[in-house]
Amino acid sequence: MSLDRVASGAPSAKKTPSVLRLPVHQRLKVNEIFYSIQGESTFAGLPCVLVRLTGCQMRCSWCDTPYSFYEGEWQSLDQILTTVAAFNCPLVELTGGEPLLQPGAETLLTTLCDAGYRVLLETGGGLDISRVDPRVHRIVDVKCPGSGEMENNHWPNLDHLSDRDELKFVVADRRDYEWARDLVSGRPLGCSAIHFSPVHGSVEATELAEWVLEDQLPVRVQLQLHKFLWGAETRGV
Ligand code: SF4
Repeated sequence: MSLDRVASGAPSAKKTPSVLRLPVHQRLKVNEIFYSIQGESTFAGLPCVLVRLTGCQMRCSWCDTPYSFYEGEWQSLDQILTTVAAFNCPLVELTGGEPLLQPGAETLLTTLCDAGYRVLLETGGGLDISRVDPRVHRIVDVKCPGSGEMENNHWPNLDHLSDRDELKFVVADRRDYEWARDLVSGRPLGCSAIHFSPVHGSVEATELAEWVLEDQLPVRVQLQLHKFLWGAETRGV
């Protein structure tokens, strides 16, 4: 990938103290900001600026972004907005880690909406989404048993979904599939799309597709497009 798609925006050692003096809603710890093809959700395939925040309270067994747990630099809201604007792209996603862990995340989402961007939020589903700006498209994980984090789903989130929102189940095996199938079949969910995504190396995508067809489940089998384009291990794409 070309370097001009990456803008980690790491402030210098001199800048960090002044950023830390800002109110908590005006600064965020940023892991990376980059311009890529959106790999998931109904927005897959579109050019998108991704802002990845640092930190996550979960530890999913199959997590593919463990580098986001601790790595990052504090940036002001203005610094982030300047970096995003430089890519001249109308679609922006806030992701992590768990972006909602930081108090400034909701402010950033609203500010991006106010600036006219189409804004996506990718959240692990363990924190309350109800205070997120309603203009944001919320893409919410529901953690299946194989993740090891099922107990940490914030279940009231399912009552706050709108037709702007999407749910994602990452499926590691047949047990996860049946658990997710029973959940989506057992209650109405007010979102626009439900995605079932196979864990790379745990379950074959074709196997998952066959299960979905067999049960005539109205969900989308989702593959992570960016991993096909740039490889499963490549960061910043
Ligand atoms: S919620 Fe996301 S970032 Fe956090 S451990 Fe799970 S997969 Fe990784």
